[in-house]
Amino acid sequence: MINKKILVAGAGGFIGGNLINFLRSRGHQNLRAVDIKPLDQWFQRFDDVDNHSLNLQKAETCRTAVEGMDIVYNLAANMGGMGFIENNKTLCMLSVLINTHLLEASRIAGVTKFFYASSACVYAADKQKSEDVIPLAEADAYPAMPEDGYGWEKLFSERMCRHYHEDFGLEIAIARFHNVYGPMGTYDGGREKAPAAICRKVINTILDNSHEIEIWGDGIQTRSFTYIEDCLKGVNLLMGSDVQEPLNIGSSELVTINGLVDIVESIAGIELKRTYNLDAPKGVNGRNSDNTLIKSLFQWEPSTRLKDGMEKTYQWIYDQMVNQSSAEKARFTRP
Ligand code: NAD
Repeated sequence: MINKKILVAGAGGFIGGNLINFLRSRGHQNLRAVDIKPLDQWFQRFDDVDNHSLNLQKAETCRTAVEGMDIVYNLAANMGGMGFIENNKTLCMLSVLINTHLLEASRIAGVTKFFYASSACVYAADKQKSEDVIPLAEADAYPAMPEDGYGWEKLFSERMCRHYHEDFGLEIAIARFHNVYGPMGTYDGGREKAPAAICRKVINTILDNSHEIEIWGDGIQTRSFTYIEDCLKGVNLLMGSDVQEPLNIGSSELVTINGLVDIVESIAGIELKRTYNLDAPKGVNGRNSDNTLIKSLFQWEPSTRLKDGMEKTYQWIYDQMVNQSSAEKARFTRP
């Protein structure tokens, strides 16, 4: 595996950039990184990696990106938090072009293993109506009623992966990520997810000396949040196995959004007045990850405590907002 040629699609983004860093730290040297963003806008970029800015919605570009590769990780997608996916359903669904063209290019190039980053948004909406959740097991994706737009694209792409495996023998690995968070990801601009958005809002109250935070929804909606290091460990275990079925990679530590704000306030050492925007996108009422399958496969599940992961995330966002000029924000080039 260590000598394999590996493509990471979406390497300019949060999980893709952290995955490149993870693979490098484990001794991989034949890495190709591709993202549609210009290279200077990637969260992480390494000079010893073959970096390219390419649009993977095009078939010919996917063939170029995949040529000569043994392993493909697809983390490229047009995505964001609820504020983005509820208002950009077409853009989300157009990511189907990326995965479809990458799969076909992988088949042509004789790729041996293909990873697809799916999401907990594939799960049926009627199983997520209550804050008092029953954790979602892999079988709960059917009968299908996923998140409109983004979730349908994920579910369709999961099935495309499955059929490439069945029809062409392409080895696949499909992770259903549950709210991944951590340093070196989006925290402003409209695509950020709740953990980063709440850190930014709390830091802003410190910087502008306001004492109020707006929370999307009523604050009692429940979620679990997965720290990036757990996400990468789970991906690594999955890729090292011969599991072809979708697998939850998610923390099972359930928290309300109010509870998440409590954690960030305690990290920041402040208490804020809370206002609740009931018209803002808030997603399903409750969601958690059932980790029975991952535990039975690998005797492991994501275990970083939310408050520990949030401390590192808060610190990174704080440094971005306070210490760096706007040109440097969220951009890293490493030797
Ligand atoms: P991200 O937005 O930080 O990264 C995605 C990257 O894909 C971006 O850098 C973007 O520029 C790139 N991209 C978009 N369109 C492209 C195109 N046409 N060609 C090439 N690159 C393109 O998001 P992320 O959080 O790192 O998510 C990575 C993957 O994991 C995505 O598929 C996402 O749907 C999935 N996922 C993430 C989470 C999460 O909580 N972060 C949860 C579930 C699933």
